[in-house]
Parts: sequence; structure tokens; C-alpha cells
Amino acid sequence: MKKRTLVLSTGNINKVKEIRDILKDLPIDVVSKDELGLKEIDVIEDGETLEENAIKKAKAIKDRVQGMVMADDTGLFVDYLNGEPGIKSARYSGPDATDEKNIQKLLKALEGVPMDKRTATFKTVIALIMEDGEVLTVTGECKGKIAFKKRGQSGFGYDPLFIVDGYDKTFAELGNNIKNNISHRARALEKLRIVLTNIIEDDIDEDSSCQ
Ligand code: IMP
Repeated sequence: MKKRTLVLSTGNINKVKEIRDILKDLPIDVVSKDELGLKEIDVIEDGETLEENAIKKAKAIKDRVQGMVMADDTGLFVDYLNGEPGIKSARYSGPDATDEKNIQKLLKALEGVPMDKRTATFKTVIALIMEDGEVLTVTGECKGKIAFKKRGQSGFGYDPLFIVDGYDKTFAELGNNIKNNISHRARALEKLRIVLTNIIEDDIDEDSSCQ
């Protein structure tokens, strides 16, 4: 059976590890664009949806590599703010945004808003482009509320503010082990694993019908 290659558009080492781990049982070589010497490819995320940005990021490397390509895009959608920061989550506080500045801006925007109105959704879209150019997308979501102040030490981004439904703790308080089982990204990756498993099963069927 042919072994497939999946190229990741991210250079983020934590994401690469998480994706390798979730796909470890499949006959797929997972390599990041940085490992292929394509670190310099940087995409301007100016799409109007997470889907558009994820597809744009995947397309940016498709012609430069062999194999399947995947990219993800994530946003935090706060209901009281009509979905902001949403697709602008990474640069919510401006061109020189940092996690800390984004957090402070979000806390300010929600000043005085009671807990029952602080509902939010983390959403991740993963785009997968097949060897022949076919584009597939999968989505994962996680619901919760925005805390009144930072809570917990682990994780990154908005983790210290996101109280996950059913846990009464922020992602930063829950820690990576639990977070990586229940997060928006984990849910999208689980759907990707199912899509890839079906593709591999089709490969096996094709192989056996050729014998
Ligand atoms: P990206 O699409 O992964 O680049 O993420 C967009 C923005 O959402 C960045 O500000 C990230 O820090 C933030 N973000 C993405 N995933 C998470 C997460 O799992 N927890 C907290 N913040 C996240």
C-alpha cells in the first residue's frame, strides 16, 4: 500500500506534536512546512471566515510540496460582542498584538457584563487539500464563558479566560492533557482523523481489487 504524506502549513511545534499524536495509528508521514525548508511562506490572513483563511494557508504551500496539505484557523467568538474577536482573534489588539494585550482588550470590552452574558465559542476549521487538489474542511467547536479575570497558568492565547462548559475551570486551569481531549482543535482533529482513516481504507480496497 502506498504511504501518504501530510504536510502541515504550521511551524508551531506544539500543533505539530498534537497532530502527529492524533494520527499516529495511520500510515501517514506527517511533516511540517518548516521541516521541508518552507519556513519563509507566511500568509496574510485576510479572509472573511475561518474557512477562507484555512484554505488560503493550505493553498499557499500546496504547489511547493508533494502529498496532502492541511492548515487550520481558530477564532474565539464572544456572543455579547457580536462574534468578536472571531476571525481577528490573533490580532484583536492591533498589528503588534500579543496574547496579553488581546486578553486585556477582551476583559475591557466585557467590563461590567455579568457572567450569564459572557458566553463564547472557540471554533477551529481545518482545511485539507488532497494530492489532486480536492479541498475538504472540518470544524470543531467548544462552548464556554469568558472569566472576569485571568485564571490558571498553562496553555496559550485566550486559555486563561475561557471557562469551558461543564468544567467551571478555564483551559489554563485544566492543563494541556485535559484541554487536548476536549478542545475545539481536538474535535476538529478527531474529524480529520476519521476523514483520513476513510481515505486509507479506500487505498486498501483499491490495492486488494488490483491483485
Ligand atoms: P491560530 O488560528 O491558531 O493562529 O489562532 C488565532 C488566535 O486564537 C490566536 O490569538 C491564538 O492565540 C488564539 N488561539 C488559538 N487556539 C487557541 C486555544 O486553543 N486556546 C486559546 N487561544 C487560542
